[in-house]
Amino acid sequence: MAKSPEMKLAVFGRAGVGKSALVVRFLTRRFIWEYDPTLESTYRHQATIDDEVVTMEILDTAGQEDTQQKESHMRWGDGFVIVYDITDRGSFDEVAPLRGLLEEVKKPKNVPLVLVGNKADLDHARQVGTEEGERLAAEMACAFYECSACADEGGMVAEAFHELCRELRRR
Ligand code: GDP
Ligand code: MG
Repeated sequence: MAKSPEMKLAVFGRAGVGKSALVVRFLTRRFIWEYDPTLESTYRHQATIDDEVVTMEILDTAGQEDTQQKESHMRWGDGFVIVYDITDRGSFDEVAPLRGLLEEVKKPKNVPLVLVGNKADLDHARQVGTEEGERLAAEMACAFYECSACADEGGMVAEAFHELCRELRRR
């Protein structure tokens, strides 16, 4: 069997949007309520995606980094998950600037990316419409998922990560 490709994935988004919860959901299929919000971690994970083994290194950023730290995380990564919280309009407003910084750091390459609107279980507190997320993803030419790290019945969280790996494999 061919050596499995290794993919470096970095998760970005404002502190509190659920980056750590999403990563842990993806890795363990469990939800854990509280994480140290200042913690930054990397994880290794192997998965079989469309009959091919993929090794991922996943960087769960804290979301409180200064621009210089963000840029260094962006240089490290091959592909990116940008997360916002559907109940936090401000977190959605931070997506475009993050994407802008990514483009700048990675130019002239266009950046493999997926956009995730998390906390879809909190629909009663929603501040960002599904169609707004879809529109932004279309502008950024990337895949879009509304997910819930705590109620992930459809397996959408894994789907978002797997789609990013597929996108990287297509390159
Ligand atoms: P991070 O700072 O982006 O890593 O965010 P965390 O993963 O630490 O999550 C921040 C808070 O949001 C915690 O209290 C989590 O329990 C909560 N949270 C994360 N994901 C979800 C979700 O999908 N639904 C709900 N209801 N709460 C979530
Ligand atoms: Mg975190």
